[in-house]
Amino acid sequence: MASWVLSQYALNPLPHIFRTPRTSITSHKLTVSHTNNRATPDLTKLSLIKFRERKLGLRVSAPFQIASTTPEEEDEVAEFDPGSPPPFKLADIRAAIPKHCWVKNQWRSMSYVVRDVVIVLGLAAAAVAANSWAVWPLYWVAQGTMFWALFVLGHDCGHGSFSNNHKLNSVVGHLLHSSILVPYHGWRIRHRTHHQNHGHVENDESWHPMSEKLFRSLDKIALTFRFKAPFPMLAYPFYLWERSPGKTGSHYHPDSDLFVPSEKKDVITSTICWTTMVGLLIGLSFVMGPIQILKLYVVPYWIFVMWLDFVTYLDHHGHEDKLPWYRGEEWSYLRGGLTTLDRDYGLINNIHHDIGTHVIHHLFPQIPHYHLVEATQAAKPIFGKYYKEPAKSKPLPFHLIDVLLKSLKRDHFVPDTGDIVYYQSDPQISGSLKPE
Ligand SMILES: [Zn+2]
Ligand SMILES: [Zn+2]
Repeated sequence: MASWVLSQYALNPLPHIFRTPRTSITSHKLTVSHTNNRATPDLTKLSLIKFRERKLGLRVSAPFQIASTTPEEEDEVAEFDPGSPPPFKLADIRAAIPKHCWVKNQWRSMSYVVRDVVIVLGLAAAAVAANSWAVWPLYWVAQGTMFWALFVLGHDCGHGSFSNNHKLNSVVGHLLHSSILVPYHGWRIRHRTHHQNHGHVENDESWHPMSEKLFRSLDKIALTFRFKAPFPMLAYPFYLWERSPGKTGSHYHPDSDLFVPSEKKDVITSTICWTTMVGLLIGLSFVMGPIQILKLYVVPYWIFVMWLDFVTYLDHHGHEDKLPWYRGEEWSYLRGGLTTLDRDYGLINNIHHDIGTHVIHHLFPQIPHYHLVEATQAAKPIFGKYYKEPAKSKPLPFHLIDVLLKSLKRDHFVPDTGDIVYYQSDPQISGSLKPE
């Protein structure tokens, strides 16, 4: 009987969630001790290691290692493994979210658009009226943040969470995104790809890890742009133009391999809108002078780009524990989504429409932004330890700059093979940080 229990256990290890890992491993260890009188501390250690290896499987590229058998380290072995398959299903999370969180209210959505547009115009008018070098830097930061808020509302349009009216979503999305030089459909289609493949090493879109082979093939300039701050925070326009290293295609080009033939018309429409905005800015620079356009629009645009790269990078990187990336059969929509991260941005949460509540958004992008916080609270008991509570922010989220810099020094590539992989460090880029 005991050996049957053991063999079942070996074949079907229980996933590590909530308090289960500690008790399950302890009981496993005790079972070995009781059923096998020859079990010594060393054998116990061996059983723990084997248990861990079985659970992670042979395709794991970065297995956990045990150096000794002190109680602390055994505890470490028994800790929650974020790469283990969760014991709940997507449907369990869906069921925990209150019904009203799924309801889209187009008037409420529109009210956020009106609020943001009024603020954008007000800030521009105030800056022009003041026209002082003491005011311009404040204006740039404030307006760049508001451009980012506009992007988030357009992002809701792209997901259809803005309203149930497809035309309204498309018109508002185009107006919002074109105003900040984002090709709406081109971006929308690839953003959908990101959600559908989150956490997949190869199939994810933007800010996914490079394989070691690709990483080693990059020249110094490419590595600098990818890993040395502030350059990665300026990546978005270049990503739109030619995607990430190792991938081809442009978000502006209808014939690009990013899109299927039926999406061509949409991509052309958005590229025309984008070009119209560029034309408008050029025209305005003749009327108002290029310096005025630089101060009013171009500098805030780059602040917006930094916000976008900052937030989207931290959505998927920088947790103190290394989080898994998946390939092959180990990847699933749920497991990939669970490795995304929520972030607290302090006062900015409200301004950028709670985009920091990212996990629930990733799993259920149809939930409007104004219900994300409530939906997250409702889902937390189901998530258990799979939910990584974000660090509390001061009014402004300066703590996240440190998180970003640490991750850029640490998270460089993943092994070329393996279905559950973790970021590895390159000592040359890590600098003072030791490679892991
Ligand atoms: Zn994401
Ligand atoms: Zn999204």
